[in-house]
Parts: sequence; structure tokens; C-alpha cells
Amino acid sequence: MHRTDLAALDRAHIIHPYLPSSATERVIMVEGEGSRLRDSHGREYLDATGGLWLAQVGHGRAELADVARDQMARLEYFTSFWEFSNDRAVELAERLVSISPEPLDHVYYTSGGSEGNEAAIKMARYYHHRRGESSRTWILGRHRAYHGIAYGGGSVTGFDLYHDGFGPMMPHVAHLTPPWPYRAELFDGRDCTDFCIAELEETIDRIGAQNIAAMIGEPIMGVAGMVVPPDDYWPRVAEVLRRNGILLVLDEVVTAYGRVGTWFAADHFGVRPDIVVTAKGITSGYLPLGAVLVADHVATELGRDHGFPMGYTYNGHPTACAVALANLDIIDREGLVERAPKIGDFLAAELRRALADVPLVGEVRNVGMMLGVELVADPTTREPLPGIQHIADTIRAEHGVIVRDAATALVLSPALTLGEAEATRIAESIAEVLSRTTPDGTVH
Ligand code: PLP
Repeated sequence: MHRTDLAALDRAHIIHPYLPSSATERVIMVEGEGSRLRDSHGREYLDATGGLWLAQVGHGRAELADVARDQMARLEYFTSFWEFSNDRAVELAERLVSISPEPLDHVYYTSGGSEGNEAAIKMARYYHHRRGESSRTWILGRHRAYHGIAYGGGSVTGFDLYHDGFGPMMPHVAHLTPPWPYRAELFDGRDCTDFCIAELEETIDRIGAQNIAAMIGEPIMGVAGMVVPPDDYWPRVAEVLRRNGILLVLDEVVTAYGRVGTWFAADHFGVRPDIVVTAKGITSGYLPLGAVLVADHVATELGRDHGFPMGYTYNGHPTACAVALANLDIIDREGLVERAPKIGDFLAAELRRALADVPLVGEVRNVGMMLGVELVADPTTREPLPGIQHIADTIRAEHGVIVRDAATALVLSPALTLGEAEATRIAESIAEVLSRTTPDGTVH
């Protein structure tokens, strides 16, 4: 097909999530290798977003294509409902349990993160129901959280954008203040963690612990702009929840599988969750797959007598599981978990160096290969900079570097294989565009 027809056909037939009204073109990708991408016009890009925060091993690994081909030729798919299973799903479950934080030792497969959060919410409610505490239906989340777009997880998601026009959302959801030290104004002059813990305890008192099933949170909040909580936040939250019989669900859809320098962010923060939702990096995006990791005490309640009564057609998809195993092999073999903080800190340092004289930068933050560049119109008032999406678009159009905007920050989550020269190019491209940007968000 003639390459220019692709954009017209895309416009005619594809419904794009979040297509900006300002979008003047379609960027149609046709090839990728490492952190490099090429579009249908032959233009090259440097991918600083790692696909959509998932390309741990980078694009274009023929080895993963071979694994998928071999598995499809042997057994492409069979169901995991009832007593059926398949060898790849079993092997992957064993592998996931061996790298996952204590006390997680069961796996429930999905095809992605939104499905995983739906499963986690149902698991939490069902766990309490089976234990004779059916009143425990409330789910605690945070403002500016993102837990996908299905009705359950989407309701816990803490942005109006994902709710407006879709109502009514799921009832029995309460949103708490995000642990975001940079936004000190959120905490009434108090220490960020102290404030959040007091608010959590007050919320539990108000709703009643006997009515709350779980709290769900991203260890580091991605869509909020890669917001990193203080080190004591998660351990203290976990302690309050445990004391009140409330399950802790960590949404590690972005943070798992090495991105933050440990297999799971729960390890980084030293917490023991009851349920962990994962997806994305489990296959580096080569095939859709998610895995909800479940502690034994929860799994026992879910599976007793008749098995957990919810299933997706693609639970434990053999080809996706085979690719996930091979992807984890690459992460292991190439030492990518250990590499993530090294290259992530290098990229953060390059950003700080290149952006040192740009007054619009509030802070550069990172844990491993999750990075956020907070943009402010005025560093004193910390007023967010308008028009961040346009800045990201300009960086792509003029420098061929793909970064995204998330809330008030530019966010980066490149492949864990990113090279140092590539990191420097990302930092300098962002700095060049920001050096021409005025506090009203206009790029000159
Ligand atoms: N949870 C988090 C923290 C995410 O960042 C995402 C997607 O970015 C999701 C859930 C939803 O995952 P999916 O898009 O695979 O449904």
C-alpha cells in the first residue's frame, strides 16, 4: 500500500484514545530496534517513552518473535478455565513467584493492566465476602492515580478526565491525597507522609474499617507525572491497613519487571502487599499479557471449593506466557534490573545538567527508569506550565525524540537498554525546546 494512504485510512477508520484536538498528523510506526523507531515516511525517532512505559528489552528482538512462532506452531492457545492449564502458563507462574516479593505465591493472568485492576478489586471484595465480611466493599485510592480505564479500576483512577461523560462510576470509592512532596501546599504545612497517614486514618474512621476492602496504589504514580512518594510512605500505609484488616493492592503495571531497579517496586519500598497487579514489562509489550500476583492467605479464599468465579478468555495465553518467559530471560541475561538505576540516574543527571539554566523546570525526579520533569510557569509559585502537550509534540517534530506529557510533567520511561549517547540526546532535545518556551507555554 502507498505509504501516504495510511494516514488517510487511519483518519477514516481508527478511533484513537486521547487524540489531541491539536494533532495535525498521524505518526504511523513501521519498524523498531532498540530505542529507535521508523515511521511510514522513513523518519527516525528515539523512543524515550519505551512504547507506553513497557519496552524493558527494547524494540525488534527477533529472539522473542522466534519464541512466539515456535509456541504458536506447537500450541497457540488453549483455555485456562476449569481444570485446564498449559505448560507455559505454569512455568511462568513458577518464575513470577520466584522473583516476586513475599508473600506473593499465586498468579492470576490477564491481558493487560486494566483487566488486572478489575481482577484485584473483585478479589479484594470476594476475599472478604468469603471470610464473612461482605460489608467490606469500599476501595481507597488517591487523586491523580491511574488504574486503567475499566469501570472498577477506572473509578479508582483519580482524574476527572477519565470519569467525565462516563458516569455513574463504581460507587464505594474514596480518593486520598497523593504523596507528592513537591506540591507542599497539599499538606497544610505538615510533613507529607504524616499528613497522608492522618488522612488515611481519618478516612478509615469515617467509612468504618469494617466497610473497606482494599487500598490500591501505584508505588510511583505514573500518569500523575512519575510522582515519587517519601521512603516512609508505603511502609506506614501498609501498617495502618494491616491494623485495620484492609488489603494492600499495589498497581505495579509500570513499576514491575526491573523498571525501578528491583524486580518490583514493593522491594524498593520494603513493603509486603497482599496483591500486586502487573502487565506491560512482563512481555516488554511483544504480546499483551498481565499477571496479578496474590498472597497465599488471599488466594486460599479465592480458590476454595469452586475456583475464583471470574475468567478472561485469554487467561494464561500460552504464546503470551512463552514470550514473557523469554523476555524475563533477556532481562536476566543482560542484567537489566541492575542497569535500570545506573542508566536512569545517568539520564536524570544529564537532564539536570542540560536544564540547569531553564527556569521552567521545577524538578527532575526519577527512580530507575521512571523519570519526570516537572514544568512550572513560575518556580516560586510552582504554578504548572500550560501547554505541556505541545512541548512534547515539538520535541518529537523537531528533534525526533518521543517524550510524553503526563499531568504537569514531561515523563520518560525508555527501554532499560538505552545507551548513554541516546540519554544525552534526549536530555539535550528537551532542553533545546524548553529554552525557547515562555511561561505561557508558547514555544518560540
Ligand atoms: N495501571 C497503571 C499504573 C498504568 O500505568 C496503566 C497503563 O498505563 C494501567 C494500569 C492500565 O493498563 P492497560 O492499559 O494495559 O489496561
